[in-house]
Amino acid sequence: MIVCKDISVSFGAKGKDGFHAVKNVNLEIEKGEIFGIVGPSGAGKSTLVRVMNLLQQPTSGQVLIDGVDITKAKGSQLRQVRKNIGMIFQHFHLISGATVCENVAFALTAGGYPKEKQRARVEELLQMVGLSDKIDVYPQSLSGGQKQRVAIARALANTPDILLCDEATSALDLESTEEVLSVLRKIKETSNITIVFITHDLDAAKKLFDRIAVMNKGEIVEVNDTYSIFANPQHPVTKMLVNRNFELDVPDFVADAIQADEELYKIYYVGEKAYDPVINEVAKRFDVDVSILHGKIDYIHRQALGILVIKVKGKDDIRKEAVQYITDHVYRLEKLK
Ligand code: ADP
Repeated sequence: MIVCKDISVSFGAKGKDGFHAVKNVNLEIEKGEIFGIVGPSGAGKSTLVRVMNLLQQPTSGQVLIDGVDITKAKGSQLRQVRKNIGMIFQHFHLISGATVCENVAFALTAGGYPKEKQRARVEELLQMVGLSDKIDVYPQSLSGGQKQRVAIARALANTPDILLCDEATSALDLESTEEVLSVLRKIKETSNITIVFITHDLDAAKKLFDRIAVMNKGEIVEVNDTYSIFANPQHPVTKMLVNRNFELDVPDFVADAIQADEELYKIYYVGEKAYDPVINEVAKRFDVDVSILHGKIDYIHRQALGILVIKVKGKDDIRKEAVQYITDHVYRLEKLK
């Protein structure tokens, strides 16, 4: 388990009131989970994750890994901590003049792995990321997704308990992203590794993470399981990120054309067809017109989340009753401005 206790990181002159990139962060990440940290760029995600392997010393606070405070580690103890934590980055950081095999073997050498057994270990690692046939090629002949899979093999070379991923899919196209996510899912299924993944990409988050922390301006503003983050976001920043991801914004010309007796709502429902009867029923029971402007079903961990944008037209008091009826029969209803 990784526990962050009151972690703060400031940049600037020591003793002076510098820039606070991370502010009093408290987090508990369970063993074996894929934990995501999402948030707008500049939120402090990268700084926070770098504290977890001490690439960045915190200004104050502690990181406990299985109960041991790593922020005090020095020398050989620090090397041991780092050996137990693999990391991958947005831009892979592979050595272009070395083959795939050599790139992965460098990590083995650094970890003190016997030279004569290294090739066999590299073969094993490449098989895990689906790149057995690329062992002797140079990185330049690989696609972005393949390069990142080599980086994963390298990060896992010394069988760490923790893998940190810093925007690991952000430089990749959709296909390569899917490739990398699927390799990480497989690794999680076949080992008890803990994965901490930071990204601004909510699509990757939706597909991979068990739980999500949302970070904004150096602070963690919300932590929940992935489905709840998408189905019932609480903090304005979470709402903004989720709404942007669902791409269900109402065009200005539609919003501007709303009449005095009309209102726009966004309905969230759990499951695939739950909304049909509600919309039909409300139009039967109340003297209102309900029109559907937009809708989609998303799948988060195989659980369906439906979203509809509707326009309700009718007299004020009747419209209010109708909206109350809808509220009582769907998962969540949100009024749009
Ligand atoms: P994110 O990963 O969420 O995009 P970062 O952790 O990279 O955010 O950065 C958070 C803030 O800290 C940014 O404003 C960034 O400019 C600043 N920052 C990060 N590293 C340093 C540094 N070494 N020196 C000064 N400022 C930094």
